Amino acid sequence: MEKLFVLGTGNAQAIHCYNTCFAMLKNGEYFLTDAGGGNGILLALDNSGIPLEKIHHIFVTHAHSDHILGMVWMIRMIATKMNKDSYDGNLCIYCHKELIATIKTLTSLTVGKKFCRHFDERILFIPVADGETRSILGERFTFFDICSTKEKQFGFTLEMEQKIKLAFPGDEPYRENLSPYVQGAHWLLHEAFCLYDQRDRFKPYEKHHSTVKDACELAEHLGIPNLVLWHTEDKTIADRKTLYLAEGSQYYHGRLYVPEDGEVFTF
Ligand SMILES: [Zn+2]
Repeated sequence: MEKLFVLGTGNAQAIHCYNTCFAMLKNGEYFLTDAGGGNGILLALDNSGIPLEKIHHIFVTHAHSDHILGMVWMIRMIATKMNKDSYDGNLCIYCHKELIATIKTLTSLTVGKKFCRHFDERILFIPVADGETRSILGERFTFFDICSTKEKQFGFTLEMEQKIKLAFPGDEPYRENLSPYVQGAHWLLHEAFCLYDQRDRFKPYEKHHSTVKDACELAEHLGIPNLVLWHTEDKTIADRKTLYLAEGSQYYHGRLYVPEDGEVFTF
């Protein structure tokens, strides 16, 4: 992969930024992970200069609204392009098995038949199993079950052609049993609901989320040199970067990133 495009950085209830989702670029094609909670995905992609015609691979982590509902819009818009003959090839949607029925149902209940008629013909749903490795855009992805107790969720490890390993354990705190997937990563994309300093205000732990301090201690412990924090609250968004970097740097000595929506990282 060449670049990581941060499309959204917010948690489920964020309204001052988009829900956490991202795209990675390889040879002019994009691999999209999650689509946020609505048609804001279309604006986020537009703002990042990512054309729908260049997205043929989408991975969806889980069925929560802030990750999946944007898929209805992605499917609607890409199917429209298929209908107009302005989209080449197939759209491949990767997700755990149960999620396929969820995406199909949500979409078929909310958009017309002319869009859904491409299901299983040009819009392909590809189930991924726990521990399954697939080559996508010439890169090696290994998908895994993050063992959520809330809703079945998958993340992935990406071993890039250029020998960079990236770990994305979804929107919940890292669990020890994921260590085979996360150990040795050069990049960790991790959730941080809020500052540790503001845990009493935002109550991250009762929502199965972690704080900046927790994620930074984890990355420090695992010796991961690049840490991206997102899936945050948005009440402090005006100062989020400054505050989170200040707290994080007390616990982590690698490169810490607290992106705004629209930021781009080069690998
Ligand atoms: Zn989420």
